[in-house]
Amino acid sequence: MDNLVTIDSMSADSEKNAMVGWRFDNSYARLPQSLYSRVSPVPVANPNLVILNEKLASDLGLDAVALREAGGDIFAGNRLPEGADPIAQAYAGHQFGHFTNLGDGRAVLLAEHLTPQGKRLDIQLKGSGPTPYSRRGDGRAALGPMLREYIISEAMHALGIPTTRSLAVVVTGEQIIREELLPGAVLTRVAASHIRVGTFEYANALGDHDALSALTSHTLQRHYPSLAGEQNQALALLGAVIERQAELVACWMCVGFVHGVMNTDNMALSGETIDYGPCAFLDAYHSSTVFSSIDRNGRYAYGNQPDIAQWNLARLAEALLPLIDSDQQKAVAEAEGALARYSKLFHAHQEAGFRAKLGLIKEEEGDWELAMGLLEWMQKAEVDFTSTFVALTKSVETGRVDGALSQGGEAFHAWHERWMDRLKRQHHSKAEVAATMRRANPVIIPRNHRVEEALAAAVEGNLTPLHLLLEVLERPFEETAANEPYRDAPPPGGVSYRTFCGT
Ligand code: AMP
Ligand code: MG
Repeated sequence: MDNLVTIDSMSADSEKNAMVGWRFDNSYARLPQSLYSRVSPVPVANPNLVILNEKLASDLGLDAVALREAGGDIFAGNRLPEGADPIAQAYAGHQFGHFTNLGDGRAVLLAEHLTPQGKRLDIQLKGSGPTPYSRRGDGRAALGPMLREYIISEAMHALGIPTTRSLAVVVTGEQIIREELLPGAVLTRVAASHIRVGTFEYANALGDHDALSALTSHTLQRHYPSLAGEQNQALALLGAVIERQAELVACWMCVGFVHGVMNTDNMALSGETIDYGPCAFLDAYHSSTVFSSIDRNGRYAYGNQPDIAQWNLARLAEALLPLIDSDQQKAVAEAEGALARYSKLFHAHQEAGFRAKLGLIKEEEGDWELAMGLLEWMQKAEVDFTSTFVALTKSVETGRVDGALSQGGEAFHAWHERWMDRLKRQHHSKAEVAATMRRANPVIIPRNHRVEEALAAAVEGNLTPLHLLLEVLERPFEETAANEPYRDAPPPGGVSYRTFCGT
């Protein structure tokens, strides 16, 4: 009888799997066992699906209807889909400059899913209970921060910025203890991988050459397959990650994104933005803007992000040294050579980004100085980052300077004249210039006050503001009647925005 039950439930599971469309192949769980711990999500009292990303589900080749049916249990970790091989990944990291051993303390990698397009993606549950890496934490997450990650990661995706994605959020039916009691939740995160700079720091600190080497080959194969044949895999990986991070951080700078906690454990080798904690988008422009309540010295301020990325990449380089060359001096020289390319790569991406934001179609010497001139004025005038670029686009279209720029003053008008002269020299039509600018300047970003409003309502059980916000965030470059109320900066004179780590 017992056997029959097992067989029945197994076939029911395969059936459900087939209905949902999961195709699992868990390659990370085949790496040396020092890199992870096998651990199942800890079941929760009363799981309920809060939100399911049906478009993402469909892109992954999953059936949204079947997922909705099974979703509460699967996304809470109460039921393991067949073929899942849950693990918590080990990693270390430099947190605010200090080295610590970490690991997934409140997450498990459920499985790797192969999409119909052949992409391999991690399906991770975040907030799924304690693991061997939890230290003093409870392994849980609160609904507000998980929905916050959902909103911001999906907004980043719509902005065209590489990022992990959010497939679902469930409430657990349990309260978690923070400064107050909060509803517990689990986020299902989808990522190219969760391999971090800190993963390599961990493998290197183990002193296990084979594990470090296996991790390197795995990462190269997975994220940079065209380099998999390189003789010096570690050096190839380092160079490729440097390129992707230079591009990623330039993308952040172009939309005014402040990650907030760029510890080395929060930097992914895939080049995706990862670990949305105390992140936020600039309102008024100032390069030293910090939102996170714990970043007291501004280490992760908007304007510091490019340098911090380079610092983190240096930690990656250190972790790879034993593989780069057995002669340490040679290894250091090679790594330094690779790191030296970062600044130039970053600046090229940032300059190209800002050139597009200003409608400068062909490159000309002095373009970066022109962009800097604008940023200098913006900082002094304390104008809204996003609205300024939207108003500049409109000024090209209408020939009038108004909106966020109407109070520009003399310094702005002097800059504007320089910009107009520059635009005239490139012999492109107004329409071409404006189209370039519209593609580079979002009208809609997840405005802090809008995000807070949606989260507050959701925690009270009203999901309407969340859905409305998510809908307008899907098309950030278009001006529509529906997104009009979501464009404006918060009214001036408000208390400056503060974010908190969601732990
Ligand atoms: P984060 O600030 O989310 O990047 O997390 C930093 C580290 O703390 C990671 O290793 C997390 O797994 C761990 N962590 C964060 N919150 C918790 C928690 N509630 N319980 C256990 N570990 C946690
Ligand atoms: Mg983290």
